Amino acid sequence: MTYISSGKAKDIYETPDGNLLFEFTDRVTAFDGLKKAEYKEKGEITCRLAEYWFNVLEQEGIPTHYISCPTPTSMLVKRLDIVPVEVIWRNYAAGSLLRRYNAGEVKLPDGVEPKEGAPIPGGMIEFTTKFEAVDRPVDVKEIQFNGWLSEQEIEYVTKLTKRINEILSRKLDDTGIILADFKVEYGRIPGGEIILADEAGTPDGCRFWDKAEFENGVIKSLDKDVFRKGIGDLSAAYGELFERIQKS
Ligand code: ADP
Ligand code: UDP
Repeated sequence: MTYISSGKAKDIYETPDGNLLFEFTDRVTAFDGLKKAEYKEKGEITCRLAEYWFNVLEQEGIPTHYISCPTPTSMLVKRLDIVPVEVIWRNYAAGSLLRRYNAGEVKLPDGVEPKEGAPIPGGMIEFTTKFEAVDRPVDVKEIQFNGWLSEQEIEYVTKLTKRINEILSRKLDDTGIILADFKVEYGRIPGGEIILADEAGTPDGCRFWDKAEFENGVIKSLDKDVFRKGIGDLSAAYGELFERIQKS
């Protein structure tokens, strides 16, 4: 195996047959890499959750790069040409949407209150750059202008992301967890077909809120917000999430 590179959370290797092996590490970063730490078992929990969700998504007909998990912290995937756009789906207002709203940079959909936890009826999709020093929101015109995705591909990616949201939200709801928002990435296989890449349904790339607490007016995060906001032990939050999903 050949070492290729290290991202913020994973180390990446190429296998002799041209696939990629992700090693999920215990590293965690936030605020464009400015805040960093390591948490015990984080790599294993995120790897096993990504494996769980890729299996669920494949069964539901979503095409993904997932091949197998040879160890509890590693995942074999098909090597893709990554689309340089991150796709964000939001069911509730949180994070950068509210920061941008408060800075006057974005409008909220009609009727959505500018506060964390405000529902976004029907949900909303946003796109940001990838591979720039700092991710920034991009609109569909710029995505097409730069040749990152065609109009039809944007429609396709939107449809897939909406479907992923439905699948994850429904399963999580059964375990008393709200999917507030999430990020996914896509890539092309030779020939051009677009499939789901990177990871899905992990607490690194989603906001998960305890539903019972939410109904009492409290946001209890079971995701990377615990680290971003410095409000508890990330291993404990990720561990609780994993146990609840595993039991379901
Ligand atoms: P980041 O620093 O971007 O958060 P990670 O630590 O999660 O990255 O490492 C994963 C990297 O691998 C990301 O840059 C992601 O876009 C890329 N990637 C994910 N899936 C694939 C794939 N199937 N083929 C090639 N690159 C991929
Ligand atoms: N997200 C991610 N990687 C990024 C940016 C966002 O995984 O580079 C996820 C994030 O965890 C959250 C969702 O996408 O679940 C929306 O993030 P947001 O735009 O609110 O940004 P943040 O507040 O995380 O900076």
